[in-house]
Amino acid sequence: MRVEDLMAEPLDRAAVLRWLRETDPERLDLLWKAADEVRRANLGDEVHLRGLIEASNYCVRKCGYCGIRLENRAIDRYRMTDDEMLDCARRAVVLKYGTVVIQAGEDYGLTRDGIANVVRRIKAETGLAVTLSLGERPDEDLIAWREAGADRYLLRFETSDPVLYERIHPARSGVSHPMDRFTILRRLRELGYEVGSGIMVGIPGQTWDTLATDLLTFRDYDLDMIGIGPYIPHPQTPLGIEPPVGDPDAQVPATEDLVLRCVALTRILCPEANIPSTTALATINRTSGREHGLQRGANIVMPNLTPPMYRVKYEIYPAKACIEETAEQCALCLHGRIRSIGRTFGSGQGARRRHHA
Ligand code: SAH
Repeated sequence: MRVEDLMAEPLDRAAVLRWLRETDPERLDLLWKAADEVRRANLGDEVHLRGLIEASNYCVRKCGYCGIRLENRAIDRYRMTDDEMLDCARRAVVLKYGTVVIQAGEDYGLTRDGIANVVRRIKAETGLAVTLSLGERPDEDLIAWREAGADRYLLRFETSDPVLYERIHPARSGVSHPMDRFTILRRLRELGYEVGSGIMVGIPGQTWDTLATDLLTFRDYDLDMIGIGPYIPHPQTPLGIEPPVGDPDAQVPATEDLVLRCVALTRILCPEANIPSTTALATINRTSGREHGLQRGANIVMPNLTPPMYRVKYEIYPAKACIEETAEQCALCLHGRIRSIGRTFGSGQGARRRHHA
């Protein structure tokens, strides 16, 4: 088989499943080449940098995998002020990033008006693209933030298996409606946001079959941004200390290799999407995880802008890469890595392109 044949072949469910479980190194090499070629043909060699602001580690949710879940009493909580967030955005301008991403636990201490105000100030002062990733907020919040000028929203669906989803996302007390991230994703699109989602790979109970559905779902939803990282157990979470569940043959591993296959297949399924080489991937292979992601389909990195004193407290999973660096050190390191693989730095905001719209 040649790379051209692979790209000409329709990637249906059976083909995705086969590639996920492929063991022949020569065939896998074809997959890597095809993904890199699709990335280059659609998006060129530019790598866009999105500066990440981890604005708060307060959270009302009890996600079974996440270290900043409500019930983790062992962590110190913090919430950045508007001025601190503005400072991070100013630093993004100096470091020549085109976008800032404001991410946090689902924290209603970050109020509708408060975030709208921060978004307005960042847009007016810096002209950066603003991405929000603040959890499953009510419609009124999403509307207000879009009106304030927010460009994009990230909300991973984590897994397309509804049973597994329910198991790792216990209902919030006092809130009657079931959580449905797909409904919110459709709504974000209606409101005119660029829409991002994604998954973790290797969640206990996640099977090959559902992983294939996850990737096909990215295509069905025509997502603008797709984040894929390994699941990393956190010892202060229920999932992190739970013994293995289900059939071991059906369970997918949380390995670098499988994450890279998912990234490569996603690139071929969604040629125009912005796909980051994630920090979680860099965490399970500190030497070259970032570069591998970029060489197998990804075109985005998300350097951290959070002040180090807060950064250590935003521990969604343990031993997160880059946790003690300043924003400047993070930028320098990523510049070196991007240059070392012959890629260039994106200029501008790096919005989703639509060649086929
Ligand atoms: N509160 C926001 C932001 C969550 S953090 C939200 O719910 O959307 C962003 C992502 O980190 C999550 O969507 C999840 O995919 C990932 N994450 C959380 N805990 C993790 C873990 N233990 N291992 C790997 N990734 C994790």
